[in-house]
Amino acid sequence: MRSEKFEISSFEQYSTGKVLWQDTQGHVQEYPMASPMAGALRIQGGIGALTQCITTEISAGNLLLGHVLQGLQIQGDNVRAEVQGPEGQLEILAKRVALAIAPRVAGTLAYRPALPDRTQRLLESTPTWMAGHAKFFALYEEPFWRDLGLCGTAMSQHGPLAESHDASSHTGDGASLFGFVGLDAKTRAQLGEPELIRMATEQLVGIFEEKARLSNEMFIKDWSTEPFTAPHMA
Ligand SMILES: Cc1cc2nc3c(=O)[nH]c(=O)nc-3n(C[C@H](O)[C@H](O)[C@H](O)COP(=O)(O)OP(=O)(O)OC[C@H]3O[C@@H](n4cnc5c(N)ncnc54)[C@H](O)[C@@H]3O)c2cc1C
Repeated sequence: MRSEKFEISSFEQYSTGKVLWQDTQGHVQEYPMASPMAGALRIQGGIGALTQCITTEISAGNLLLGHVLQGLQIQGDNVRAEVQGPEGQLEILAKRVALAIAPRVAGTLAYRPALPDRTQRLLESTPTWMAGHAKFFALYEEPFWRDLGLCGTAMSQHGPLAESHDASSHTGDGASLFGFVGLDAKTRAQLGEPELIRMATEQLVGIFEEKARLSNEMFIKDWSTEPFTAPHMA
């Protein structure tokens, strides 16, 4: 399937094979259902391919990467945007401003005049979907679980990963498993990344056998520490 506007291709999430279930004791058994990811589409090249396409529609002079919007001020019929860039403060005068950021992130900006109390409270209290979550990634030479008749999807009540899935790219160049970390942001911070990775590795070995240990690289992406996603937590 291809996105008509940007001609970006997508591919189906790998979902051929058994789904596994790991109970609180670590025992693993087949889960009698199809992968909940079956039929899901992923973008070739990842979501970055989409943002790359969008940036081609913006003239180079108007594309300010590494700049942080700090405040918005109404000036007559215009809006003045206060921006912090690598080379210092910048002001942009615009007829209109469209904010494409999460409401809670928008709530951290300085508005002049101040927003009505109710609007400000609404922005600050609107949860950002998934903002407190973290994902664990393990990269491999081969998708060895497929040879075991597994699709990579496993639900678990045993270790830090509540569920795992095949995250291999469409190219067949390398393979990957990813897992949603089921521990809350505070517990994750207390454990620290090396310990979390160690625990997740043991869990994957328990589910997918010893080859799961032979990863080229393992890492965790924790959105709760991202100030532009989860400003209330970071
Ligand atoms: C753990 C997790 C898993 C997810 N999984 C999926 C999934 O499997 N499938 C799916 O479809 N969606 C998923 N999502 C949701 C998806 O990531 C969001 O829906 C999507 O990113 C929203 O895009 P957006 O452009 O609206 O906002 P964002 O991606 O939040 O982009 C906003 C951008 O604005 C920037 N920004 C913020 N404040 C400022 C500022 N003051 N100045 C300058 N720049 C600023 C941010 O850095 C960011 O780059 C997931 C999200 C998380 C956190």
